[in-house]
Order: sequence, then structure tokens, then C-alpha cells
Amino acid sequence: MDGSHDLELILRSRTPIVVIESRDEARMLRLLQSIAIRRASTNYIPVFRWTITDGLQRLDISLEPQTLNSEPTAVLKHIRAVNKPGLYVLLDFHPFLEDPVNVRLIKDICIQFRDVERQIVLISHKVSVPQELEGFCARFDMALPDESERARLVQKVIDEYNAENSGKTVQVDSKAHELLVQNLSGLSYADTNRLARKAIYVDGAITKSDLPQVMQAKYELLNRGGALQFEYDTATFGDIGGLAKLKAWLSHRRPAFRGDKSAAHLDAPKGILLLGIQGCGKSLAAKAISAIFGVALLRLDFAAIYDKYHGETERKLRESLNTADVMAPCVLWIDEVEKGIAGRGGETGTTQRVLGTFLTWMAEKKSHVFVVATANDISAMPPELVRKGRFDEIFFVDLPSEDIRASILAIHLSRRKQPLGNFDIAALARLMIGFSGAEIEQAVVSALYAAHAQDKPLADAHIEMEVAQTRPLSVVMQERIENMRTWAAGRTVSCD
Ligand code: ATP
Repeated sequence: MDGSHDLELILRSRTPIVVIESRDEARMLRLLQSIAIRRASTNYIPVFRWTITDGLQRLDISLEPQTLNSEPTAVLKHIRAVNKPGLYVLLDFHPFLEDPVNVRLIKDICIQFRDVERQIVLISHKVSVPQELEGFCARFDMALPDESERARLVQKVIDEYNAENSGKTVQVDSKAHELLVQNLSGLSYADTNRLARKAIYVDGAITKSDLPQVMQAKYELLNRGGALQFEYDTATFGDIGGLAKLKAWLSHRRPAFRGDKSAAHLDAPKGILLLGIQGCGKSLAAKAISAIFGVALLRLDFAAIYDKYHGETERKLRESLNTADVMAPCVLWIDEVEKGIAGRGGETGTTQRVLGTFLTWMAEKKSHVFVVATANDISAMPPELVRKGRFDEIFFVDLPSEDIRASILAIHLSRRKQPLGNFDIAALARLMIGFSGAEIEQAVVSALYAAHAQDKPLADAHIEMEVAQTRPLSVVMQERIENMRTWAAGRTVSCD
């Protein structure tokens, strides 16, 4: 199944204009060529290709290009004047559809189609058809390679590598091969081939270490100008003090999310809402979740989605969510979801539509996209979002208890190469009542500066001094934190 059958049906349906939005121009031209050859014996129609650089050229047989017709208006006038059927493939014609003269010329050709079958095929990465021409158009969407086709494409690259490197054969880790074929989903034939080549040719092997690069390259291909960020900087649960319950919850769901055979009877998890006090590790946890699941982390940037034009915001959100679907399996992190979805005072219409778009996608999604929404402010949270069943679970991240503070302190001292034996960690953790993880880290950072200024190694006294000078958020925002705890009790599950 190369899609040529479907395209042939559309061409035969006697629609004057066929629109193909594709970045795989070479493949589309090959398809059209093969259709022309197939049709030649029963219904011979010459096929032409036009570009602004080469003008009009025969596609089915090789003849010199007609540079005379390289101007967009000139080529349309030429087509209109030809009194014979023909298939005219115009590449990257989209900018010239804004010219009313060109629109009228195309319309003339379409109106006369019943008398002279001159069919126009527009191929560009994106084509906005002017309203005057819409009624004359059919669109062709190239089906993307399915799993067996992707496996065949990967095998072709393996065979090519073996043929080009005599004596060597590609080393294949079977699990990595399976994941590679899975992760190449959603790409065109050309891009699938390109990424498979990149993974295989670099070291003559398919290993798990190829997968992050494949996902990164795929993201770059798919998210042109979009609002999704690929997070290169990930964390592991080893970098986080506490959150033990969250970690256990995720470990139990990992096999189902990854589609392991042993978990075939389990529903794949959809996502969680992580609600909690600022600086207690929500962002860090989102990053660690992608590591636990062993998949890419994408961050949805709501600021890049909001658009002043009516309907554009939802369209951009839908596009980003579609990209996430294609990037699956992945973790989609929505930071400060309350600001993105509800925090746009005065634009209630847009806010409602954005929320609706997001909730519909959440409810209908079949792809393995695990959503991690993080939020600091429950008062701004739309009730629809926290209703039971939206997320698999709502977790609450509270301020760390004394023993968790000790482990967070140890993590940040170790990260800065401080021997733990030099400190009374338990006593320091006891002093840090009401400190968030971020504040504990900040105390270590500042104490290191103080020690450095005195030209001394870091000691308990430096940290104690910083602790004494800090007014933690739990004091400054006591009331808000209490409100949050009250709200969370009974509605959420604790992370610890
Ligand atoms: P905000 O809501 O302000 O974005 P947050 O809850 O997302 O806060 P993080 O950004 O994850 O918090 O935390 C800030 C920094 O504080 C982290 O990069 C990390 O260095 C440190 N930190 C916070 N919590 C922990 C923790 N539990 N263990 C280790 N480090 C932590």
C-alpha cells in the first residue's frame, strides 16, 4: 500500500484541483509518475511539473523545461490556452494563490474542465485555498507508514548498511528494534527512512541508546513553530527527596504505560495532576516521571498558544496535542496548568474553549501520552479540571517532613561534591522547619558562597547561618498554604 491507489481514485474523480499538503515532495512526484505510467495504455494524459525556478517540464517523459512559463501567471495562462487534457503539478504555488489574477485564471481552467480536462495538482507543505476555488478542490492526505511498513523501511536500511559495509552486519537489540519501529510512527516515508538511517549508520547497530536521539529528531520534524518544548534536561527519582508514594504509584503503572505483554489486561494510565506548594519538587517530579517511564518529555507552553485571533488559540492547542499524540509514547508536562487554562481574565470565551479542547482530548485520547499537569494555585483551578475521572489521580505535594528535609539536604550537598560526613545532617534538617526543597537547596548554595568568601570548607555553621536568615514561604504565605492543605485533604492523595 503506497497510497497511489487512493490518489488515482481522486484524480479520476474529475475534480479540477487536487491539493496535497506534504513535505515529501519527491515521493508525491514518484506516485504521480507511477499513476501516469499505469494509465498510459488506457487513458493517456501528459503530466507536467512546474516550479518557479524551472518553469514547466514534462514529468512522464524527459523533455527540456520551458523556462518561458516560469512566471506563475504565465504558466496559468499557458495552461488555460492549451486545448488538450493534461495533468499539471504545481509545486510550492501556495504564495501565488494570494494574487487575484492567478485565482481568476485557475477558476477559468476549472470552469472549462468539463470541456477540456486540464487538472491541477497543488503540492506544498501547506496550501490555503481561496474561497473562490474551494468548490473545485479535493484534498489528498498521504497515509503515513503503518507498523509493518515501518518495519520494512527499517529492514531496508539494515540491508543497505550491510551491502555498503562488506563484512559487517548491523547489530540488532530486538527490544530496541521494536521500540524504534514504534517510535518512528507519525512520520512520512522520507522522514522515517532518514531517521532510521541516522540511528543505524552512526554505529552499525540498533540499541536503546539510539532512541532518545530518534525522539529528539522526530520532535524537531514535527513541532515546526509549535508550542511544545522538548525537555532535554531530565531528572531521576534519585535526584528527589521524598515523594515515595508517587514513585510507587508510577512504578506500578509503568508496565501498562509501556505496553508490556505482562500488563496487556491493564488500562494504560492517562495522567496525573500534581498540586502543591511552590518549590517542593513538582517540576522535578514531572522530569523524573519521563525517566521512570523511559520516554521523551514534552512541555506544553501555554504562553505560546494564546493568540489574539478568534479560534486560533484552540487550533494551536489542538495542533500541539496532535503532535504529542504522534510523539507517543511520551510524557506531556503542563506546568502551571491553572494559569494556562484559567488564568486569562477577561477572555472567558477563549478560556472555556481552551479548557473544552483540552478536556475532550484527555477523554478521547488513545495514544500513550501521559499527562503531568502541575499547579500551585487551587483557587484558580477550574472545577471541571479537578473533577474525578479527569486524571487518574490528584497528588498533593506538601512541605517536606524532617526526614525528607534531611534527604533533600544530602542530595544537594552531594551534588556540590560536599562529603556528607562533614555535616550533622539530621540536626540541620531539624532547624529547617517549614523549608521547601527549593529553600533547602538555596541555603546550601548561599552557604557555599559564604564559606568560599572566608576561604574555608563548608561547615554546619555556614548552613545554620543561612537558615537563620531565611524567612521561608511557609511563614510568608502561611494562610495560603493552610487553605491549600484544607482543600487537598480528602480530594487528593499525598505524595509521601
Ligand atoms: P514551582 O511551583 O515554583 O515551579 P516546583 O514545585 O515545581 O516549584 P521545583 O521547580 O521542582 O519545584 O523545585 C525547584 C528546585 O528545588 C529543584 O530544581 C530542586 O533543585 C529543588 N527541590 C525542590 N524539591 C525538591 C526535592 N523534593 N528533592 C530535591 N530537590 C528539590
